[in-house]
Amino acid sequence: MTIAIVGAGLGGLALARVLYVNGMDSVVYERETSRAARGQGGMLDIHSGQRALREAGLIDEFRAIARGEGQDMRLLEPDGTLLLQEDTPDDAPLERPEVDRADLRDLLLESLPEGVVRWGHAYTSADGGLLHFADGSSAPYDLLVGADGAQSRVRALLTDARPTHIGQNIVEVGIPDIDRTHPDLAAMIGRGNYWVLGDGLSLAAQRNGDGRVRIGLSFYHTAADWLATSGIPFDDPAAARTRLIELLPGWDARFTALIAACDDTVVPRPITTLPVGLTWPSAPDVTLLGDAAHLMPPVGEGANMALLDGALLGLALAAHPDDFPAAVREYEREMFERTGAAARMSADIQELLMSPDAAQKMLAFFQPG
Ligand SMILES: Cc1cc2nc3c(=O)[nH]c(=O)nc-3n(C[C@H](O)[C@H](O)[C@H](O)COP(=O)(O)OP(=O)(O)OC[C@H]3O[C@@H](n4cnc5c(N)ncnc54)[C@H](O)[C@@H]3O)c2cc1C
Repeated sequence: MTIAIVGAGLGGLALARVLYVNGMDSVVYERETSRAARGQGGMLDIHSGQRALREAGLIDEFRAIARGEGQDMRLLEPDGTLLLQEDTPDDAPLERPEVDRADLRDLLLESLPEGVVRWGHAYTSADGGLLHFADGSSAPYDLLVGADGAQSRVRALLTDARPTHIGQNIVEVGIPDIDRTHPDLAAMIGRGNYWVLGDGLSLAAQRNGDGRVRIGLSFYHTAADWLATSGIPFDDPAAARTRLIELLPGWDARFTALIAACDDTVVPRPITTLPVGLTWPSAPDVTLLGDAAHLMPPVGEGANMALLDGALLGLALAAHPDDFPAAVREYEREMFERTGAAARMSADIQELLMSPDAAQKMLAFFQPG
């Protein structure tokens, strides 16, 4: 019985690993040509997903690469007012540590035997138990798992739902090696998350494991084509930085200094989601996990859910090795409920971030009562 997983992201790899530790084989087809083909970028805050790493037998290795101090948080208003500062004590439990996405993916990749991941296989379609790839090759499957992310192609086998734009566009920039190049800004950002929430705009800066600070500027209540009409020249990074500073009128000079110090990587990121609570009638030989199944706003749940989906589907298959349809039904029942709740919570946080007094509301969220 062949389990074919499309996509070597966190969810697909967690599934392959949990199957492996339970003595079951799988093959992961990934369209990228190698693990280094695309920068994985950024930090992930891993909380509920730690259970998946435990099921995968990798929790100690995870703790070794997790950054507890990444839990630090500073919340400010655009005029520079500091609303909240939380520093993580050295002996604090690793409840929501930050981990470099590339480190976590490498950990999962290295935990799999050679040959499980087949690089350079871009899935295009499936029929009659055969997967077809962009290079014209094909491969058999008994169970096909779409772990192919936000723009999943496997998804169409189960549902007509497509991601839609949620009125948020992010422009991602960053400062490399900040301790050496801009120690003053490094001290301002601190060791973890640094958020400035304004009216219809936010700046989220975060220190990465490699010393880079990644900065996401979010423009809320903007249309799907806003990145093209915003006047940000993405092909001219210096002019793009100037335009971004213009788009922060009245913001404290410390925040605009942060943008001015960025290097030439300027990445546009329109934000889309799938409908909250999306389900589909179970099929005996196809299922989905991770962003392919439940793309949410980027407020800290997606990677956790993808890891859990992978691990829990792996456990369900290990419990029903001769009855994949039963395993899929069991997995989907739990997954729909769990990820539906996570998607509702993410949508609530998203609404808060998009509200006019986002900073005060976020303060109340972190300091209830
Ligand atoms: C800016 C940002 C910050 C985020 N921060 C957090 C956070 O702090 N915490 C958190 O929990 N979540 C976070 N998320 C969400 C998280 O990144 C995703 O939910 C998570 O990566 C989903 O994992 P996945 O395995 O489903 O998909 P992915 O990680 O996207 O992996 C999908 C894989 O499938 C491959 N693929 C795609 N199409 C094909 C094809 N046709 N054939 C073969 N392979 C294919 C891709 O190349 C990729 O390797 C963030 C998201 C963004 C955008």
